[in-house]
Amino acid sequence: MRRYSVFAVAREGLRYHSGWERAWRSPQPKKKYDVIIVGAGGHGLATAYYLGKNYGITNVAIIEKGWLGGGNTGRNTTIIRSNYLQDPSAAIYDKALSLYENLSQDLNYNVMFSPRGLIMLAQTHHEVRGYKRTVLANQLQGVATEWVTPEQLKKLVPIINIDGPRYPVMGGLYQKRGGTARHDAVAWGYARACSDMGMDVIQQCEVTGVRTEGGKVVGINTTKGDIDCDKLGMVVAGHTSTLAEMAGFRLPIESVALQALVSEPIKPCMDVVVMANTVHGYMSQSDKGEMVIGGGTDSYNNYTQRGSFHHIEETVRALVETFPMVSRLKMLRQWGGIVDMTGDRSPILSKTPVEGIFVNCGWGTGGFKAIPGSGWGMAELMAKGHSPLTAEFDMYRFREGKFIDESVAAGVAH
Ligand SMILES: Cc1cc2nc3c(=O)[nH]c(=O)nc-3n(C[C@H](O)[C@H](O)[C@H](O)COP(=O)(O)OP(=O)(O)OC[C@H]3O[C@@H](n4cnc5c(N)ncnc54)[C@H](O)[C@@H]3O)c2cc1C
Repeated sequence: MRRYSVFAVAREGLRYHSGWERAWRSPQPKKKYDVIIVGAGGHGLATAYYLGKNYGITNVAIIEKGWLGGGNTGRNTTIIRSNYLQDPSAAIYDKALSLYENLSQDLNYNVMFSPRGLIMLAQTHHEVRGYKRTVLANQLQGVATEWVTPEQLKKLVPIINIDGPRYPVMGGLYQKRGGTARHDAVAWGYARACSDMGMDVIQQCEVTGVRTEGGKVVGINTTKGDIDCDKLGMVVAGHTSTLAEMAGFRLPIESVALQALVSEPIKPCMDVVVMANTVHGYMSQSDKGEMVIGGGTDSYNNYTQRGSFHHIEETVRALVETFPMVSRLKMLRQWGGIVDMTGDRSPILSKTPVEGIFVNCGWGTGGFKAIPGSGWGMAELMAKGHSPLTAEFDMYRFREGKFIDESVAAGVAH
């Protein structure tokens, strides 16, 4: 595939953009692949990419029932950070952040990574204690974060009201390297690179069954016919339980709707990402000027990609006290995704009871930021049978009580 460059843009500009190639092929499935990845979200595509790039495994198909990036990957609020409390989490999220920093160059695709800084507000004494502890944990992990006072916060975010009557801002956890990226571009960039390596990205093809023989995977049934494989990666977020059931095992995943909304575009007013976890609201400003807003999950399990309406009101109401200007904004669009929650709010990257089947799920409300690190670790696990990045995220930790408890850091806080 021809490289994107400033010269290519100039050349195509002169010939009315008639020479661009398709970004990826749309092939029909082959009879057999070495590896099949189910789910063309960010995690599935990144897994396939690093299988090819790091291990030379390119006889790979990525099977997607809808369109690529049409799941949670294209529906999130794009927050990227690595300021987690537990060591295994900090390791995988920081690996992801490091890869994000050069992802546009690596993929030759502009993912619009914007390390504008991220602040998690402390609005209760409990949060002050919790985030100061996280700053110290991050220092030990080599992840640069700092504690900022309300006055420093006000300088960083002039539109913030630090003297709210219910929840005054008492300080914040600040990660300067955190930020955002363009979510669709992450999926498109990985898909293009996979296609360039000869992998088949097959859209509009639903996996309807998993075939096993003697406890080992041999293939899948799909709406485009049966396909054989030696290894299968299940990377389907909110549909993980459904797919695991096809293969005959269960996972501790609950699927719930999480939604987000954007306002009308306004002049630049906030150049960091701010998360207010006590009141369940977080906000950043997109390059177009829209305020991108997210809140908490629905409180019951469901598979609707919408989310319930009262959450919009709750989220906006929560933000108004801390950001009074929000009360004068018109909201333009709202959407939802089905997130895959585990009990300890940490992901599962694991072998399964079926030989040859690997699972990557449980990223819940916060997996966009992890995509490159998750793909890197999952590819290593699938290629070599072990990865230091994923070892602690084994599915059997729930049976053994070895939780990686990030519920405070990641329960609803992306
Ligand atoms: C509103 C919202 C806001 C969020 N905000 C953030 C944030 O700010 N920061 C952050 O880090 N994370 C955030 N997240 C979480 C993040 O989006 C997800 O953790 C991440 O995108 C998961 O990626 P994935 O590749 O695992 O799943 P997905 O992108 O959902 O991909 C899974 C794919 O599998 C496909 N699939 C399912 N079943 C089948 C089948 N049977 N056959 C074939 N294909 C199938 C689906 O169609 C889907 O495309 C948010 C999520 C939502 C919904």
